[in-house]
Amino acid sequence: MKPYFLFLSCLLFILPPSFALMFQSLMKNYMAEEMTSYMSEKLSDFAHSRELAVESMFKSLPKKINYTCDANDIAYLRNPKYYTLYIRMIGIATNKINCSSSGVGGNREVFDNALKNYANGYYILPTPSAGNEYVILFKSSKGILYAILNNAWIEPLLSTVCENCFTVRMLSHINKSYVSIRKGDDADNTFVDSGELSTQHLDITVTATKKLFKFISNWYVRYIYSISILLGGIFSITFYLIVRRPISHQESIARALKLNEFIPYYQPIVDSSGNKIVGVEVLVRWQLPNGRIIPPSSFISDVEADTGMLLKLTTQLIDQVCKDKSKIKYQDPLWFSINIGAGHFSNNVLLEYMKSIKDLSDGISFEITERQPLHDLFDVAKYVDNLKLLGHSIKIDDFGVGYGGFSYLQTINVDSIKIDKMFIDTIDTSDIKKNILESIISMAHEHNYEVIAEGVETKPQVEYLKSKGITLIQGYYYSAPVSFDGLLKLLKYGF
Ligand code: C2E
Ligand code: CA
Ligand code: CA
Repeated sequence: MKPYFLFLSCLLFILPPSFALMFQSLMKNYMAEEMTSYMSEKLSDFAHSRELAVESMFKSLPKKINYTCDANDIAYLRNPKYYTLYIRMIGIATNKINCSSSGVGGNREVFDNALKNYANGYYILPTPSAGNEYVILFKSSKGILYAILNNAWIEPLLSTVCENCFTVRMLSHINKSYVSIRKGDDADNTFVDSGELSTQHLDITVTATKKLFKFISNWYVRYIYSISILLGGIFSITFYLIVRRPISHQESIARALKLNEFIPYYQPIVDSSGNKIVGVEVLVRWQLPNGRIIPPSSFISDVEADTGMLLKLTTQLIDQVCKDKSKIKYQDPLWFSINIGAGHFSNNVLLEYMKSIKDLSDGISFEITERQPLHDLFDVAKYVDNLKLLGHSIKIDDFGVGYGGFSYLQTINVDSIKIDKMFIDTIDTSDIKKNILESIISMAHEHNYEVIAEGVETKPQVEYLKSKGITLIQGYYYSAPVSFDGLLKLLKYGF
């Protein structure tokens, strides 16, 4: 992997944890605020319900009791319908007597003070003993009816997020006395945040303690950091997989076309009567950045499957051939034969391109392969005529092995026939195809076609062909396809 991609991959890995780190104090504060306000809302909901329960009791009970602690009063004080989550104890007190649902009297001091000093009405006071509960008093001319409010529900509620993470303080509206519920070590109870809400009788302040911050910090480390590291891993692995995904052959060909990695090799066509090079076939090679040369058998069928790529390849090659041939100093004119097939005739790109380079394209000829079927022969014939009008000669390649054979010759105005290696290989053998070779040769002579023998590897083949009047030879006997430098050497020094 390139260092640049490695760097990006690492960057993607550390990005989410860095965000988690950067925003941690912001996020922790936000979470503490949210939890505290959630808690104070919950508490105020409970406190509202409690107030309703207490109000309904104080509406009905004073009319029913005699304030004498007789059997009637005790029965009412013990009536289970008044004991809810919110009320723990109900009692009465007069100057003479006091009693309660639990049978025990209650704190006389409070009652005496209230009976003596308080006007008739409601009072909410912290319980004198524990101080973490309220007692609600209703004073009338008959005496005092009181209820001790149950705070037992508050603690489980406060523990829903974590233990000892909140303290709560309730301030009575009526006589401004407060009750606070605190738990845990004082160090933990150091206040860090608070939320306030009011009910009819109480202001409720819920305060987040240091313990909540510790809890959020642990939670943050355990979940947010883990998730952010996981996310970083997912990002960088996904990136790595995208970068390293195997690209299809077509994609790599398209990229090679962009990078001009396809280059022409040249195979000489030699007149065997004087061993002189008269022309070359242009054969494409894929030159990898490391210098390796790939033969067309590995990619040409993929290129031919995509007309756009095929046309691009051909025009790039012609472009390079034009540059190369301008550097050649040779006593005789040379032709350069370019391979084309069905794909090239499907639109006018090649024709227009040849028109555009007309001044440079001297000596360029085309060989049409027979191996892929040509669909509309008349259209091909017209295309070929247009190429010929521009001065390019036309050969039929691989004659005899493909689809059209003689029918192509009748329709398309070709100048030369290239006899495929398959037939050349029959020379000096008893192969039955040798008859076909002979009939191709006599047909070609009869119609005055120029003939090129392809894939000629031996002297007897050259001699046989010469004896049949065929002197244009292409094949390893003279030379395999070579690079442009190789061609320059062959032109200069011969074989
Ligand atoms: P082709 O057009 O029939 O080209 C002749 C092939 O025979 C070339 O193979 C050449 O190297 C090989 N050859 C020539 N003489 C001999 C010989 O004496 N013995 C043997 N064994 N082989 C010989 P190459 O270069 O691998 O090309 C293969 C095919 O790829 C070509 O067959 C042609 O169909 C296609 N091709 C090559 N270049 C291009 C191109 O630029 N465009 C298109 N469309 N097709 C191309
Ligand atoms: Ca060819
Ligand atoms: Ca051929």
